[in-house]
Amino acid sequence: MHLETLAIHAGHDADPTTGAVAPPIYLTTTFERAEDGSFPHGYVYARTDNPNRQALEARLAALEGGAAALAFASGSAATLSLCQALRPGDHVVAPNDAYYGTAAILRQILGPWGLETTFVDMTDLAQVEEALRPTTRLVWTETPSNPLLRITDIAAAADLAHRVGARLLCDNTWATPVLQRPLDLGADIAMHSTTKYLGGHADVTGGILVARQDDEFFERVRLIQRNGGGIPSPFDCGLVQRGITTLAVRVRAHCENARRVAEFLSEHPRIERVHYPGLPSHPGHDIASRQMALPGGMLSIQVRGGRDAAMAVAGRVRLFTRATSLGGVESLIEHRASVEGPGTRTPDNLLRVSVGLEHPDDLIADLAQALS
Ligand SMILES: *Cc1c(COP(=O)(O)O)cnc(C)c1O
Repeated sequence: MHLETLAIHAGHDADPTTGAVAPPIYLTTTFERAEDGSFPHGYVYARTDNPNRQALEARLAALEGGAAALAFASGSAATLSLCQALRPGDHVVAPNDAYYGTAAILRQILGPWGLETTFVDMTDLAQVEEALRPTTRLVWTETPSNPLLRITDIAAAADLAHRVGARLLCDNTWATPVLQRPLDLGADIAMHSTTKYLGGHADVTGGILVARQDDEFFERVRLIQRNGGGIPSPFDCGLVQRGITTLAVRVRAHCENARRVAEFLSEHPRIERVHYPGLPSHPGHDIASRQMALPGGMLSIQVRGGRDAAMAVAGRVRLFTRATSLGGVESLIEHRASVEGPGTRTPDNLLRVSVGLEHPDDLIADLAQALS
C-alpha cells in the first residue's frame, strides 16, 4: 500500500469494543489480569506497553518500511536510548554538524560512560571511511542536516558502515518518510523527532526509532525503552498518530512553500547565501535529487552584514514567529548560533527558517518588508 494510505490506516482499525472511528486514548496505567493470572489483552503496565504506543509504533514501522518501531518521550530520548544499547568501548562515527542535542549526548553524556565518537564531515565519504575502526558499531547520519542542510549519501555511507559490521542510522526528522526512505536506501535504523513534521502542529514532543530488522540489538533498545522509561504518554502518542494522518499533504505543501521562499530569497540583494537543497547551487543538490522526493520545508539564509543584520531581520518579521523548532503549520525563524551557544559551528549571520503552511505570497511579503 502507498504511504498516504498507511499514514491513515496502519496500526488502527475502528475500535472493536465501541466502534469509535478515531482512535480512543487509553489513559490507564494498568491492565486487568484474568482469573487464571494471564493478561488476556497482552498489556500489563503502561510503561511496558500500551495500546496508543503500540498503534503509533505500528504506523511508523509501516511508513518507514521497517520491521519494528519504538516510541520515546522525545527525539533526544530516542537518541540516548539507542546509544545506551551500545557498550562502553564501542565506537561511533557521527557528523560534525549533527543536531546539537545529539552531539551533546554523544560527547557529554555517553563519552564519560565509555562510548567513543569520531565527528567527521559526513558529506565527505573519505572522512567517514578513514574514521571507521574494527570497534565501530554505529554510523550516525542526519540528512538534510541542521542548520546548513548538508546532504549525506545514505546508500554510500551505509555501504561503508556495513563493511566493518556497523549499523547505519539516519536521523530522518527533516525529510520525513514522505520525502526520504532511509531503510530502502540501506540504512538499518531510521530515527525521528516526532516533535517536528510527524506531530506537525507544534503541540507534542516525541521521538521514534524504526529498525529494518527486529534483531538482538533492537531488542536491547526495547529493554532500555521499557525499563528506562523514556516513553511518551498515551495522549502524546494519540496526538502524533493524528498528526501523521495528514503528513503527506502537509509535507508536500511545506515543500512547495519553501521552494517559493527559497527562490525569492536567492535573488534578494541583502541575502549572502541560501541553503536549500532544491536550489541547483546547493552542494548537495544532486544527491538530494536522487534520494529525496522533494527538497523539504526547511532552509537557512545568511544575511549580508553579519550577526547584527541577521538579528535585525529576525526582529522585523511580523508573520514569521521568532522561535526554535520546526515542522509545524506556522512559519518560524531563528538565529541559530545564539541558541546553540558557545562552540557552535553555525555562522553568526545565519537564520534558520521553517516554512509553514501560510500562503507563500504572504510569507514572501513579510520577508520582503523585513529585508527592506
Ligand atoms: C529536534 C531534533 C532532534 C531532537 O528531538 P527532540 O524531540 O527535541 O528531543 C533531533 N534531531 C533533529 C534533526 C531535530 O530537528
